Amino acid sequence: MSVLVGHLYPDYLNIYADRGNIAVLTERARARGHALEVAAIGIGDPVPDGIDLFYVGGGQDREQEIVAPDLVDKGDALQEAVAGGAAFLAVCGGYQLLGRSYVDVAGNHVPGIGLLPLHTVAGETRMIGDVLLDCAWAGQSLAGFENHAGRTILDAGAEPLGRVVAGFGNDGATGFEGCRAGRVYGTYLHGPLLPRNPWFADLLLSEALAHAGVETTLEPLDDVIESSAHAVAAERARTRGGKR
Ligand code: GLN
Repeated sequence: MSVLVGHLYPDYLNIYADRGNIAVLTERARARGHALEVAAIGIGDPVPDGIDLFYVGGGQDREQEIVAPDLVDKGDALQEAVAGGAAFLAVCGGYQLLGRSYVDVAGNHVPGIGLLPLHTVAGETRMIGDVLLDCAWAGQSLAGFENHAGRTILDAGAEPLGRVVAGFGNDGATGFEGCRAGRVYGTYLHGPLLPRNPWFADLLLSEALAHAGVETTLEPLDDVIESSAHAVAAERARTRGGKR
């Protein structure tokens, strides 16, 4: 079976090797006999039909300002695709643009598409370091790296991706990180995220496969290296995450 991934703005939103997340999804799909095709969706490109999983990475304020008007133009098509069951992973700057708006460090109002119930306002300091999350909804943890000025405020009743065990998270105050709404996941976790969190990669993959019409349980892979990478990142976060 083939899974179609729509990679939004790969030329503009791709810091901290966020592109590596696509490589992990491709490899974990291949290991289960599924092909994963990637469609790059840039400025001015239409949103192709049949995308099973959308992906957008992080970027500096300048890059976010460049892509935001185009993303707003794609807003309806993305809302429709998600309403049709497509999954979505958005990292950092991309995560902020899935909310209603981002007020950046210079005070510019950058519009978002409101796919996630949140908004973001940049603060004076950057929140940088290793992060460890407890994702009780999945009985798992996520480990990664954050670097953002934005403080993300979730709407009342919105579901965070995880509780911050170590690190800053959405705003360095609420103790929560990220946001999830159905098959849409937003997070500040770079690294890239998926190599050291294989369970989350498989969750996205199985949701993308389900959208492609393949209801399947992915057989486990030998994730020894991934698990030790997770353990190292988690330990780093415990010892130094969230410290200014
Ligand atoms: N420019 C945004 C911020 O500073 C996002 C940064 C990022 O993607 N790492 O908050």
